[in-house]
Amino acid sequence: MNYDDIKRSVGECLQCIKSPCQLGCPLNNDIRGFNKLAKEEKYKEAYQLLSETTVIPSICGRVCPKSKQCEGSCVKGRIKDSHTVEIGKIEAFIGDMALKNNWTISSLPLKNKKVAVVGGGPSGLTCAAFLRRNGYDVTIYERHNYLGGLLYHGIPDFRLDKTLLGKVIDKILELGIDVKLNQSIGKNFSLGTLENEHDAVFLGFGANLSSKMNIPGEDLDGVYGGNELLETGNHPDYEGKVVVVSGCGNVAMDVARTIKRKNASKVYVIYRRSEKEAPALENEIREAKEEGVEFLFQNNILGIYGDKKVEKIEVINTELEKKDDDDRLSPVNIEGTNYYLNCDYVVMAIGSHPESNIVNSLGLELDKRGRILIDKEGHTSKEKVFAGGDVAGTISTVAFASRAGRDAAYAIMKYLESE
Ligand code: SF4
Repeated sequence: MNYDDIKRSVGECLQCIKSPCQLGCPLNNDIRGFNKLAKEEKYKEAYQLLSETTVIPSICGRVCPKSKQCEGSCVKGRIKDSHTVEIGKIEAFIGDMALKNNWTISSLPLKNKKVAVVGGGPSGLTCAAFLRRNGYDVTIYERHNYLGGLLYHGIPDFRLDKTLLGKVIDKILELGIDVKLNQSIGKNFSLGTLENEHDAVFLGFGANLSSKMNIPGEDLDGVYGGNELLETGNHPDYEGKVVVVSGCGNVAMDVARTIKRKNASKVYVIYRRSEKEAPALENEIREAKEEGVEFLFQNNILGIYGDKKVEKIEVINTELEKKDDDDRLSPVNIEGTNYYLNCDYVVMAIGSHPESNIVNSLGLELDKRGRILIDKEGHTSKEKVFAGGDVAGTISTVAFASRAGRDAAYAIMKYLESE
């Protein structure tokens, strides 16, 4: 978006007193406030206001599911013949201006309190930034040789430019945060060591293993996890092959579009519910369709078959029923509608979970899904230890992960100041 587009878009904001857009933002950004400042061309002040709640405006403005969050709550979208204020683009523009002009947010002097942050994804980076701004001595421990986590390896380049991501991360680190790369918890250090050497610990290392459907054939060659493909980039040769992606969330969209761009002859996305219930954004589904990905909604995979390697899947049609204990309509298989679909690869993108050997070794209480149990302030069962993001089962979008990191930072500050 260029400068004139931004001026037009901020000029369209109605400055609603109740700011429903802010309520729709997982980070609770003061959207009405930064729109007003941007309209007055006070971009630096707009950035300072935005910085009270976020450290990744250039990222959220681009990759957040805005139609389900801030823009989906904007009253202008409900006015006949009108359209929502383009909040994401305005936010990204302000964030980008801060990067370009090197606007900084000052940090308080160090207070001799050390905090370890495990995981350099959106929750860890945000937690570290808010702690450091408030005078805490922070070190991030990251298992990869780069920071960013899912922002880096989980979002394809066609959705998020990695040079821009690098600039956002550099800006966070310029606050004065130490980083130790290639450091895995349980391998290079233990939680106990961190507890001994720091006043508090934040665990925000994500949940990057793809979940399985528990159907026959998932151990055949040619079955992959969507998260793992995106993280490692170790794809097979898809040239002329038929690929089935199971699931219809954001990971499914990213992996399906990535595979289609790698010249698969066909990519099917198979989802048990209807398009309306799909967790992926409308525009991501639309763009995937435009790129040639085919969707089989209300279809359920019953099994994967082949002689050592994937050759076909068995699928059944579903109908949707309202069940008392579920907000969404539930899929029910329609007897007798089974059919087989020949394919070369199957990619599971139905959800993710943390590495159980790691979380089980931490000595923390876990919830029934095997994630770290936290209270509403992100406090785990150990006194000094906090957690947030996917590893603690909070909602797994970038903005919610960042919110979890920010909330944990404030909870850690409260804990350290009460000591
Ligand atoms: Fe502006 Fe829309 Fe927010 Fe109202 S809801 S303050 S119009 S961005």
